[in-house]
Amino acid sequence: MCGIFGIEGAPDAANLTYLGLYAQQHRGQESAGIVSWDGEQLHAERGMGKVAEIFDERKLSELPGGRSIGHTRYSTAGSSVIANAQPIVVMTSMGPLGIVHNGNLVSAMATRHELEAAGSIFQTTSDSEVFLHLMATRPHHEVVESLLRVLGDVRGAYSLLLISREGLIAARDPHGFRPLILGELDGQPCFASETCAFDLLEARPLRELDRGEVVVARGDQIESYRLPPVARASRCVFEHVYFSRPDSEVFSDTVAQSRLEMGARLAREAPVEADVVVPVPDSGLYGALGFSRASRTPIELGLIRNHYIGRTFIEPQQSIRHFGVKVKLNPVRELIAGKRIVLVDDSIVRGTTSRKIVNMVREAGATEVHVRITSPPTAFSCVYGIDTPTRSELIASDHSQEEIRRFIRADSLAYLSLEGVLGSVSGSPDSYCTACWSGDYPVPAESHGEPQAELFPLRLEAAGSRA
Ligand code: 5GP
Ligand code: MG
Repeated sequence: MCGIFGIEGAPDAANLTYLGLYAQQHRGQESAGIVSWDGEQLHAERGMGKVAEIFDERKLSELPGGRSIGHTRYSTAGSSVIANAQPIVVMTSMGPLGIVHNGNLVSAMATRHELEAAGSIFQTTSDSEVFLHLMATRPHHEVVESLLRVLGDVRGAYSLLLISREGLIAARDPHGFRPLILGELDGQPCFASETCAFDLLEARPLRELDRGEVVVARGDQIESYRLPPVARASRCVFEHVYFSRPDSEVFSDTVAQSRLEMGARLAREAPVEADVVVPVPDSGLYGALGFSRASRTPIELGLIRNHYIGRTFIEPQQSIRHFGVKVKLNPVRELIAGKRIVLVDDSIVRGTTSRKIVNMVREAGATEVHVRITSPPTAFSCVYGIDTPTRSELIASDHSQEEIRRFIRADSLAYLSLEGVLGSVSGSPDSYCTACWSGDYPVPAESHGEPQAELFPLRLEAAGSRA
């Protein structure tokens, strides 16, 4: 997963990009980068860690110019190393190009093998680099023509921004897997994955890019192109379940509103006699609120999350104690002890965190723990850019709901139905991708449902710290 931001024709473009990334930090905490165009050349700065750790005033002052794009990275294909941080910048016969990409190309590995066989030398293990190599092999005197030819040939999920001497280009794949919004700041075009970036800048969101739309921004002008259409949209509904910030509008719905509705529907689908509803922060907050309202069960913030966890947590060497989830979450005993608890979270992936949280709530004195999940069992890996592990690590891939309930040691466990999720968003049910639950992959994966990342030789653990 990733967050992207770009702005064209604005003084201080890199500084504004920094703010746009700051607001989208939740979309990736592993690395970040910004590239700017000053009219003559590209200037780039990338680093590991969070946006505020990487950039300071001096570094931003070294990114001059009125055109800029940036990226916060949460690796899904390619390992978590500085070489894979974006923007990726290259020199081509069309001049320097820089790219930021949110999504995952399912055709990346095959294309990479072909390009390597023909002599291409890749700098990264990221699927995103493939776009630039393909463009370099199909140059055109207009950069956008080169990009359009390339996009006609790749398969998978992309919302991307490309910076060149010609302008800033934004593109969204024909399935529309990932969000990408066009906005305007003081008359200048800007682009972001989520509207929360515009809110911080006081920019005005204008519209979502259509799926398959390619927009070229030059000064205060924009020009729009279309890729060949595909039959139906496949918007990632997991953006609503988990990934996007609740204050953002994604695919025309406010994320908070969708999550409240998911919680309410879950309360009706899987009611339970209990004393209090407790959200698993932060991702379970709005779902729990919806559940509480619909079931008329009081909500208590019985779990507290530490938001200040850095990239590494150093445990005492002499101790055999393993801190695990305790570093991140701690119960408020007074709110939990002696009560029957409904624990609401957005998803169960491996099941290991959920098991620890149930245990933690029991140790805090809960008499019963009923787990309610505001999405269906995650049984299939995402090949379009959400960081789900390989299928074998997904507990729902080979365990029944009753087995999962026993594993996490809950008194009861229920998931929101697929219909329940799709009824909580305003688009037609067939306009969303639900592959992680249904196994129905709108663009066939190249390797039987395993993430593209598996095919790359260098895969390290993603270091995201989402809740
Ligand atoms: P589990 O019980 O499967 O170990 O963890 C469940 C938790 O993982 C939930 O709180 C959920 O919000 C979170 N989660 C869901 N999807 C993702 C993801 O793509 N990445 C990370 N890091 N956490 C996720
Ligand atoms: Mg969570």
